[in-house]
Amino acid sequence: MHAISVFLSTIFLLIGSFSHARNEPRVKNIILMIGDGMGVSQIYAAYTANRGSLNLTRATFVGFSKTYSSNEYITDSGAGGTAISIGEKTNNYSVGVDSQGFPKQTILERAEEYGLATGLVVTSPVTHATPASFIAHQISRNENLLIANDFIDSDIDIFIGGGRSYFENHDRAVTISDELRKRGYTIVYSLDDIKTSDPNNIGCLVADTNLPKVLDGRGNYLSRATQIALSRLSKNQNGFFIMIEGSQIDWGGHNNDIDYVVSEMIDFDEAIGEAFRFADENQGTLVIVTADHETGGLSIVDGDIATGQIKVHFSTTDHTAVMVPVFAYGEGAEEFAGIYENTEIFTKMIKLLGLMK
Ligand code: MG
Ligand code: ZN
Repeated sequence: MHAISVFLSTIFLLIGSFSHARNEPRVKNIILMIGDGMGVSQIYAAYTANRGSLNLTRATFVGFSKTYSSNEYITDSGAGGTAISIGEKTNNYSVGVDSQGFPKQTILERAEEYGLATGLVVTSPVTHATPASFIAHQISRNENLLIANDFIDSDIDIFIGGGRSYFENHDRAVTISDELRKRGYTIVYSLDDIKTSDPNNIGCLVADTNLPKVLDGRGNYLSRATQIALSRLSKNQNGFFIMIEGSQIDWGGHNNDIDYVVSEMIDFDEAIGEAFRFADENQGTLVIVTADHETGGLSIVDGDIATGQIKVHFSTTDHTAVMVPVFAYGEGAEEFAGIYENTEIFTKMIKLLGLMK
């Protein structure tokens, strides 16, 4: 008996030695939350419409991030997400590649390499620019099929969002979902079908392409998906990295539709509440809430917190150049005070998790 257990533990030690040892980690878990297109006005519009209440206002440290890309003064979500995921500015429309087009390891891939669990939860297709920045390596964010294919090489523990049609494209004899199943994934199509006891990695594709808006009945999908993902990832004793996106705040901005912006913003804030609660209950957890850029050039010209009325102007149907806020809560939060490049968010996260090379 003893000989066998010594033998087994030697094997486990050998296996363990293949993943890198972390370098003085201060933080065990990072929950990175990206409100796509979420500037200060989007936040304050939601705060006002919600009559002076937002979970986000509990954040303990606040900084600002400069979002320009390597080739444009105004970034898109590909370059904005990639700056945070690889720590380098890149060209607009690129995801997970540097400005020369070379693939770069993302923080999610680095976390996998060091034995952390990883996840993505979004309200867009999982192949959309923001999540793609963390898991795919493509010069064009529009290559949904190639981006879906990049999930096969990732070993991500859980991903939840839309985009089923890209994973089950019938031009392929073997679909990407089939490939993932062969690699031990459970692929399901609704949050209800995620079994808490399932030991496999999980892909949950809840829509063919886009998810509905909150205004069209998406319900509490994002906070439920957040809860499910956090409870699964926290089973890994080494800790985890997850990116959770309020994807459609941006789409409301492009549409210059304040009700769309505010409803998506409040929905995102409910997921922020879940993340803060998790951090309160699990020592060593850091929550970062930021944006890739602002969308719509939104300004609030009148309002009333008591009644939730707001009067706003949009100045563009596109993104703008303004710095975006970075809110932090939990272990290591103070590192995020100040004004810095969006690429610094990567550097700070890697340092806190002890994933420096
Ligand atoms: Mg996005
Ligand atoms: Zn946009």
